[in-house]
Amino acid sequence: MAQPVRVTVWNEFRHEKSDEHIRQVYPKGIHGAIADYLEAQAGISVQTATLDEPEHGLTETVLADTDVLIWWGHQAHGAVEDAIVDRVHARVLDGMGLICLHSSHFSKIFKRLMGTTCNLKWREIGENERLWVVDPSHPIAAGVGQYIDIPHEEMYGEFFDIPQPDRLVFVSWFPGGEVFRSGCCYHRGRGKVFYFRPGHETFPTFYQAEVRHVIGNAVRWAAPTAGPEPVFGNVQPLEEVTVTE
Ligand code: ZN
Repeated sequence: MAQPVRVTVWNEFRHEKSDEHIRQVYPKGIHGAIADYLEAQAGISVQTATLDEPEHGLTETVLADTDVLIWWGHQAHGAVEDAIVDRVHARVLDGMGLICLHSSHFSKIFKRLMGTTCNLKWREIGENERLWVVDPSHPIAAGVGQYIDIPHEEMYGEFFDIPQPDRLVFVSWFPGGEVFRSGCCYHRGRGKVFYFRPGHETFPTFYQAEVRHVIGNAVRWAAPTAGPEPVFGNVQPLEEVTVTE
């Protein structure tokens, strides 16, 4: 039997402690809601980590035992220590998958991996979001209908200052007229990165079946594969090479 994909769900976990409404929506934290779903999936094992733990819960050991890291942050991106960002960055380049959710577009790790501002437009009036599948053969869209409709969400609008995704899986539409690239795949080094837009903390988005299903698909997509170790530097030719004047 194949080894399970080892997932670590990382959450800032501050809103849930400071805001009664958010605590009611996510009594176990956003990480708890995501972990509850993933733990029930075959072939996935889950642990969680949060900002206020030592080393933000992302010790060398935890990261070494993580195949896919899921990241949710919003109000405290600046509190994430640069040394931990360096550590996560190195693991991504070495093959760990990374799934950045919603306001994690502004996390230090996502901005580092993108190299752009990752800025966008936003509005919070609780309008619905319709995520259209624009890459139906992509594994992250497997089992998803033509679109996912989320009844209430925060709006994010273009222009979203990111590099062109390697593959774009979802485009969101909002009733106010905006659109947004809401499911973006990247490769960085040996690692795979997926940005998935939904998940504002005041809405029960991470309990919605379709959203959870996409996160599960993204975990399987982002998991490392047993490819060859890259070799760098000066090398001898494999064949005998005759160089003429
Ligand atoms: Zn938000």
